[in-house]
Amino acid sequence: MRIVALAGGIGGARFLRGLLAAVGPQDEITVIGNTGDDIHLYGLKVCPDLDTVMYTLGGGIHEEQGWGRTDETWSIKAEMQEYGVGPEWFGLGDRDFATHLVRSQMLTAGYSLSQVTEALCVRWKPGVRLLPMSDDRVETHVRITDEQGTRAIHFQEYWVKLHAAVDAEAIIPVGADTAKPAPGVLEAIADADVILLPPSNPVVSIGTILSVPGIREAVAAAPAPVVGLSPIIGGAPVRGMADKVLAAVGVEATAEAVALDYGSALIDGWLVDTADQDSVAAVEAAGIACRAVPLLMTDVEATAEMARAALALAEQVRT
Ligand code: GDP
Ligand code: CA
Repeated sequence: MRIVALAGGIGGARFLRGLLAAVGPQDEITVIGNTGDDIHLYGLKVCPDLDTVMYTLGGGIHEEQGWGRTDETWSIKAEMQEYGVGPEWFGLGDRDFATHLVRSQMLTAGYSLSQVTEALCVRWKPGVRLLPMSDDRVETHVRITDEQGTRAIHFQEYWVKLHAAVDAEAIIPVGADTAKPAPGVLEAIADADVILLPPSNPVVSIGTILSVPGIREAVAAAPAPVVGLSPIIGGAPVRGMADKVLAAVGVEATAEAVALDYGSALIDGWLVDTADQDSVAAVEAAGIACRAVPLLMTDVEATAEMARAALALAEQVRT
């Protein structure tokens, strides 16, 4: 079976680990990764979501943190701080730096981001084909108003520095309107047997991937069933501040509202947590097949069970 999954960082990567445990060796998984979180720091290109997927599936992730490398050290950051060079709020460890150096060196030499990602994956062997959503530069910005007035700041500044403590007024994927899907992305979607939307952030992870012209249209037009899993349980994100960016796009932070926002034109099936059993009928009334199953990714086996439920729902809605 050919499975395509759209993925952000932690939520996407953890789900994919469960999906890999649930499928067989004959199944092929293509992951379309969000690059809207990318940031240029010290002249290096940093791709947090691609790296989280790569490190998580390749066994190099810092487990508790959910991002960055295991057994990390911080000498470079400390040395930079001695020079008074920040940003001090963004965590790039020494081992992680190597990834960004290799990536940036290859980009400077003229390779595309997809070629670089493939090269990095030779080391990490994630067990999936990892494609960036686009080789073109897309960077999500967030419009806020604070004592400095109304301005747009980089998503990482909003998320990591400000911890989304200020209301987001708008989410702008800068560059998306002219970006092209990376090679292989549209083909993988069209050829898929199943398309999954992991419990990644619906706005700044999945929403950003879908904002690349052609990708949303391809997913909606794909012959394969499209099934999503809710990142929202009991009216709140399981982890992180997704409610803040949902508010910016006028969507309530509930499993039901997120499903209706994706809409029946995009998704055929939706999984909510058992805590949200009451929302199943409303989602189904909107033309989306819905089931309530445990959606906490407490360990790989629990996550594999979520993946099996998503694949089973895909079979049920296959027409
Ligand atoms: P990010 O790029 O690192 O923010 O990661 P993603 O966008 O891939 O995923 C973030 C989302 O994962 C958040 O909105 C969380 O609510 C969701 N999430 C994290 N852990 C779990 C879990 O155990 N179960 C579910 N259903 N969602 C989760
Ligand atoms: Ca992310």
